Amino acid sequence: MKTKALKRNKVNIVTLGCSKNSVDSEVLYSQLKANKVDVVHESTEDDANIVVINTCGFIDNAKEESINTIIRWAEAKQAGQIEQLFVTGCLSQRYKPELEKEIPEVDQYFGTTHLPQLLKSLGADYKHELIGERQLTTPSHFAYLKISEGCDRPCSFCAIPIMRGKHVSKPIEEIEKEVRFLVKNGTKEILIIAQDSTYYGLDIYGERKLATLLQHISAIEGVEWVRLHYAYPSQFPEDALDVMASSPNICKYIDIPLQHVSDAMLKTMRRGITEKRTRDLVKTIREKVPGIAIRTTLIVGHPGETEEDFEALCRFVEDCQFERLGVFTYSHEDGTHSGTMEDSVPQEVKEERAARVMEIQQAISAKLNKQRVGQVVKVLFDRKEGDYFIGRTEWDSPEVDNEVLVKADSNYVRVGDFAMVKIDSAEDFDLYGTVQ
Ligand code: SF4
Repeated sequence: MKTKALKRNKVNIVTLGCSKNSVDSEVLYSQLKANKVDVVHESTEDDANIVVINTCGFIDNAKEESINTIIRWAEAKQAGQIEQLFVTGCLSQRYKPELEKEIPEVDQYFGTTHLPQLLKSLGADYKHELIGERQLTTPSHFAYLKISEGCDRPCSFCAIPIMRGKHVSKPIEEIEKEVRFLVKNGTKEILIIAQDSTYYGLDIYGERKLATLLQHISAIEGVEWVRLHYAYPSQFPEDALDVMASSPNICKYIDIPLQHVSDAMLKTMRRGITEKRTRDLVKTIREKVPGIAIRTTLIVGHPGETEEDFEALCRFVEDCQFERLGVFTYSHEDGTHSGTMEDSVPQEVKEERAARVMEIQQAISAKLNKQRVGQVVKVLFDRKEGDYFIGRTEWDSPEVDNEVLVKADSNYVRVGDFAMVKIDSAEDFDLYGTVQ
């Protein structure tokens, strides 16, 4: 068995899943650094002797990816390429007993709230004084800001409350401290994330405080863009839209997963809203924040979804002309209310429906993109790739939305900088332009 001379105690953090998991890995990263532990994130060098996998347990594909990643590193341990393997995050929180039995090569499994215990196993102590500080895994010019943990919503298909627990908001002062730390370290764009950002404050202030929080964050010097994600449609705090409309550094952008629109499906999914109120909300968002880009995500193939329900969803997508849209096929999750129902829609029908919705959306996106040609827009450049510098407008969030490409040989910009770009041409999802 080949045992390579390994560098002592070097930790390699591997992050799977959503931006909330990335933030957790960034906190772990900075805690280890502060404890003088040699640590890297997603290193391809194989000189780390300890691996920590921060897993995702959301839906079937994500769970499969997490399990395959654990197996990959368990095999590396058996082959002597690493010495210790630790697993944390949502999959570990949700399936610890099963994982301990199925993949015993892992030294220890931790839940989503066990950072101090994980640090102990890595020979480090949890440093309270570091609250609000983290080592970014994104390019430094943008950072995810997790304003709360957990969720109190009863959505029937969702396992997140099982893995992340009840909704807990971070106090505004703590969030402000975190934003100042990020800005001091070069962050220009703050991406607000949570399981449900519109619930912010209800637990600790007894009222919805998202509007207040937006005011506080956008008032911090150096914050150039604030972007709102994971808004929930029912009991939506419309005062947040007024703050968005009147604050030049709050992006005219909202990510609001609506999941479905037919009354029957919204009821079955326990979304606490109706088709009429959903359509009214979309209208209100557009009226209160002119020029806003609305991003939504939808689920097709939920138990009980009829052809009529699906047709209603397609009409909704056509009527609302969302600027950005993603669609998931329903994943039958044990431990959820929907998980007790019959998974009645065949997989191929789920996929056909998802493809149909994206077909409609592709045409909408192509039409809306064409309308940008000739406009001069503000772009934040994220990276250089091949012959292009690639960035985003205020209507685009990283990794999920559209991008703006400018030729690197005839346009000079620095990654992490803003520049005004004249849009010369458009594709279905991306735009091409020239720096002004
Ligand atoms: S609001 Fe989001 S995280 Fe919360 S239960 Fe519903 S789908 Fe899950």
